[in-house]
Amino acid sequence: MTRENVSVLGSTGSIGVNTLDVIDRNRDQFRIVALTANRNVEKLAEQCARFDARVAVIANSALEQDLAVALGRHGARAEVMSGEAGLKEAAGMADTDIVMAAIVGAAGLNSAFEAARRGKKILLANKESLVIAGEVFIAEARKNRARILPVDSEHNAIFQALPQGFENGLEDAGVEKIILTASGGPFRELPADQFASVTPEQACNHPNWSMGRKISVDSATLMNKGLEVIEARWLFNAHPEQIEVLVHPQSIVHSMVSYRDGSVLAQMGTPDMRTPIAYSLAWPRRIEAGVDRLNLAQMNDLSFEKPDLDRFPCLAIAFEAMRAGGSAPVTLNASNEVAVDAFLSGKIGFNQISALVRDVMERVSVTAVKSLDDVLAQDGQARSEAQQWVEKFNG
Ligand code: NAD
Ligand code: MG
Repeated sequence: MTRENVSVLGSTGSIGVNTLDVIDRNRDQFRIVALTANRNVEKLAEQCARFDARVAVIANSALEQDLAVALGRHGARAEVMSGEAGLKEAAGMADTDIVMAAIVGAAGLNSAFEAARRGKKILLANKESLVIAGEVFIAEARKNRARILPVDSEHNAIFQALPQGFENGLEDAGVEKIILTASGGPFRELPADQFASVTPEQACNHPNWSMGRKISVDSATLMNKGLEVIEARWLFNAHPEQIEVLVHPQSIVHSMVSYRDGSVLAQMGTPDMRTPIAYSLAWPRRIEAGVDRLNLAQMNDLSFEKPDLDRFPCLAIAFEAMRAGGSAPVTLNASNEVAVDAFLSGKIGFNQISALVRDVMERVSVTAVKSLDDVLAQDGQARSEAQQWVEKFNG
């Protein structure tokens, strides 16, 4: 069996590390060719040595020399590249078969897009790419016969529960609804009057999943589910009315598809990202992922409830952005990224995340998005509006 070559964009993050763990268990089937990180040269160099990567990319170009030194210290022979050009190189290299897109935020768009342009098999964790550039991204992937395999656990579950050929239309496949499950996050039961005093540490302490800080805050505000609704719309070519969200605190059912004949297909598993990562890596095969098995006999409670949109306004705003279409999701995502950053660095409180996003959404007008440039321009404008909001709040 020939091994497939994998580039991991964002290898030092939570998804990146889990990806390397799955690949480590299946070295007879996969080989690492390129790894990338934003700033953590030490971890990147150690990973390059362990997997004998050929290319190491540090997004922050000022750290190129530091990376070369660290690689030497670890006895790694990877070639050093940096910046956006380096990330795109890692995504588009001729001998790369599979690209794991696991950079966080809109910063991951250009490199993920490059993978689409080069017709790669794209394992998409970076949901923000699809949220802001969905239509353009999917069109580019189709044009170049790039396959997008969703890594986000909900979308991976839906992908597993859909028949082949669903891209041609959910109606044809007999699908009535896509049901995304949400854990509800760490504040699922917190009364609204206590939200103001929530700290970044509490927000990042997710009950079921261990993840990077940005997505952890998004899970606490339920913006993560909002982004996922928009992600699902593009991935599965779904109408906004076909997508529903249910809170499922146990995080065992990772999502469901409801069919015309009354059938509901669910995918279940322990909350461990190595399952969706393994499935997307080896699809349509199944490989060992190192994941604990579900103990069904000990499971006596699987519950589902409607999300509370009053306490979690971010989810409602995201649904509005999806229905508005055009550049609205770009503004949603950019303002949220600025807000989450500001919250994590103590400049605004937890309640101000949704307030900021709502205000910026009202201020920035919705335009058509027809190209990657349109996306990036709109992203820049929304970001500067959001920055001003933060400055005003602090001034
Ligand atoms: P993380 O913060 O743990 O890791 C992010 C990675 O991206 C790191 O390798 C970092 O070096 C790199 N990076 C950060 N900023 C960058 C920049 N400006 N330029 C280039 N590289 C940069 O994040 P994560 O939790 O692994 O999430 C990664 C993506 O996967 C996100 O889009 C997230 O929404 C999605 N996702 C994560 C999980 C999870 O369980 N962690 C689950 C589903 C989806
Ligand atoms: Mg998810």
